[in-house]
Amino acid sequence: MRAAARKRIEISGTVQGVGFRPFVYHLACRWGLRGWVVNTSSGVVIEVEGGEPDLHGFLAGLATPPPLARIDQSRVTEIPAEGAELFEIRHSAAGAGQFLLVPPDIATCDDCWADFTRPGDRRYGYPFTNCTNCGPRYTIIRDIPYDRPVTTMARFQMCADCEAEYRNPGDRRFHAQPNACPVCGPQISLDGFDGTGNLEHIRETRRLLREGRILAIKGLGGFHLACDAGNDAAVRLLRERKRRSDKPFAVMARDIRSVERFCAVDEAERAALQSVRRPIVILQSLGNGLISPAAAPRNRTLGVMLPYTPLHYLLFGEDPASPAEFTALVMTSGNLSEEPIAKDNQEARERLGGLADRFLVHDRDIQTRVDDSVVRTFESRVRLLRRSRGYAPQPIDMGMEMPEILACGGELKSAFCLTKQRYAILSQHVGDLENVETMAFFEETLAHMKRFFRVNPRVVAYDLHPGYLSTRFALAQEGVDKIGVQHHHAHIAACMAENRLAGKVIGVAFDGTGYGTDGCIWGGEFLVCDYAGFERRAHLRYVPLAGGDTAIRQPWRMALAYLRDTFGSGVLPDLPLFESVGDRQLQVVDRMIARGINTVQVSSCGRLFDAVASIAGLRQEVNYEGQAAIELEMIAADGVLEAYGFEIAGADIDVRPAIEGIVRDLHAGVPAAIVSTKFHNTMAAMIVDMCRRTRAQEGLRRVCLSGGTFQNFTLVKGAVTRLRSAGFEVFLHAETPPNDGGLALGQAAVANRLHHVA
Ligand code: ZN
Ligand code: ZN
Ligand code: FE
Repeated sequence: MRAAARKRIEISGTVQGVGFRPFVYHLACRWGLRGWVVNTSSGVVIEVEGGEPDLHGFLAGLATPPPLARIDQSRVTEIPAEGAELFEIRHSAAGAGQFLLVPPDIATCDDCWADFTRPGDRRYGYPFTNCTNCGPRYTIIRDIPYDRPVTTMARFQMCADCEAEYRNPGDRRFHAQPNACPVCGPQISLDGFDGTGNLEHIRETRRLLREGRILAIKGLGGFHLACDAGNDAAVRLLRERKRRSDKPFAVMARDIRSVERFCAVDEAERAALQSVRRPIVILQSLGNGLISPAAAPRNRTLGVMLPYTPLHYLLFGEDPASPAEFTALVMTSGNLSEEPIAKDNQEARERLGGLADRFLVHDRDIQTRVDDSVVRTFESRVRLLRRSRGYAPQPIDMGMEMPEILACGGELKSAFCLTKQRYAILSQHVGDLENVETMAFFEETLAHMKRFFRVNPRVVAYDLHPGYLSTRFALAQEGVDKIGVQHHHAHIAACMAENRLAGKVIGVAFDGTGYGTDGCIWGGEFLVCDYAGFERRAHLRYVPLAGGDTAIRQPWRMALAYLRDTFGSGVLPDLPLFESVGDRQLQVVDRMIARGINTVQVSSCGRLFDAVASIAGLRQEVNYEGQAAIELEMIAADGVLEAYGFEIAGADIDVRPAIEGIVRDLHAGVPAAIVSTKFHNTMAAMIVDMCRRTRAQEGLRRVCLSGGTFQNFTLVKGAVTRLRSAGFEVFLHAETPPNDGGLALGQAAVANRLHHVA
């Protein structure tokens, strides 16, 4: 008998609900080892016994875990051999107070895809088909360790066939907690339809969609509102019912080939579309009429995703060999405007009753509401714009131990962040914290995540804006250290944290609104900063924003402020915007600006974009955040190299020369598309100019670009190209959004540093 050795391996990371234990089982069997593996509330523990070479082979094999698993740390210790006879998978051991990562929801894998589309398979047409490599996770988990009784699958008793798969270590569904089949698992039903079986309900749903109806469809993390994206009348009706906002709707297509019929798709975008996270990917639209223009009005891009559950797939038909019944379906969040996505059947019927003609529901509860994530690619890398399904609650490894911190985020597109050990865990997208519903979602998600991750924050970080609900929430917490973090400092710190930068950087923080330390509204900021603090080196020259939030909805107010600033109090240049806005309104606002009544001083880049969009005659009123700036970007032309002027005097960046140039161009009949491009070039040139000055003074050559304005990739591209050729090292967001959805990460990074200092 050969001499046996025994090793104990403790692993932490994303190792539960991702097929890790079966993987270990197979690996141990391959090397003829004995022992066991078990899920604990801090990860996975393995003990294996056998000959040294075999143990060696086993340990080497652990280095390539299944695709969804991620090993963050592992520790191997020698322990005495016990003379074990076989290898087994033991039941989970719950330990109090320990920490474990919860996997995100994963799109249906290829094997499950094959199962539910194979005629004769016992899961043929079954909308809830999943296995250890795919399926719902975060959205159904109530507690950890991750086991069926603590998921919303608890009420479904597995049938003998499912049970056999679940218990067979050789099966793909071994210990797949949401394992289900048509006999024992969740069922769908179309309200008011009395057909039998899941497929009949889906067929009737397809028929209604073909007829142009709007359906509320319960998915993985909440309800979607769906209609045929090729049916102009249906899409327009949905837009009308959703409060007539022009905010782009996302669409879903059955496969890449369908997507390529209406959008350009490159290699990186294809990979993003097909990744297991299945986000909405922003693509260039071909504008060939296959998709209703009402899906994304005045937009050259379209948000597209592929099906990520069998139910979604079946909405396009049952036979993979036949053409899809729809080129694409609109699949937009099931909410009226900005409140949280509806998740429960009854809640959906109440809240979406006025929006949807019919409801396709199912009886598996959604524990946690999670919206679709939104990404785009830049330089072949996925860039998160909304970090939600498929990503949350996957942590960001900060590379150092931190105290337990809660960072409350901002207001719009909000998300919060908890830290634990080395991890920063961003919540899923919570939405605009402007109403009680969203605040309730914030608090419910926070309570849930604190319990999940066993976090009891001792430090609470928040934005300085006294009016934000997240700030008020933070200030109401008791018995914690409270650390206020300036908005743009948090933006740059977020960019630094995800790029693991230490030391000082040049931070370019461009966005719409952020509360400044002087009580003004900032948003066109050049900082020199590290985590501990920042210096405001320069900013867009202040102009008055007249009428608070109304000025954000009416870009012409900003245009008027910039025109007055540029041309003085006399006669203003003749511009089309004066025709679309009533004389009386103009006079009132003009007086407000002149006398400083009901105005605040702003240095916001977002508002400058608004003003230019208005002056160029594009848009005088917006009905969703960032609309004017987006429409200005959308018309930008290629191949224009000219730019307008600007002046930097001390800390003031004066764009009056640019405003003058724009007006001159418009009067000379230069098309708005050229004006837009020249303006983008101006902003990129301004970034490089300021960075050069700062480098000359400080010797800094690392530049972080952050803030909502950098969702404008025309600007990103211009700035990055120019900065690199000027010898700068440029850092962008990828894992977290540049907009306020990433703010909490930066707040956490700053609070971590300041707390250590204190
Ligand atoms: Zn699967
Ligand atoms: Zn079953
Ligand atoms: Fe911001």
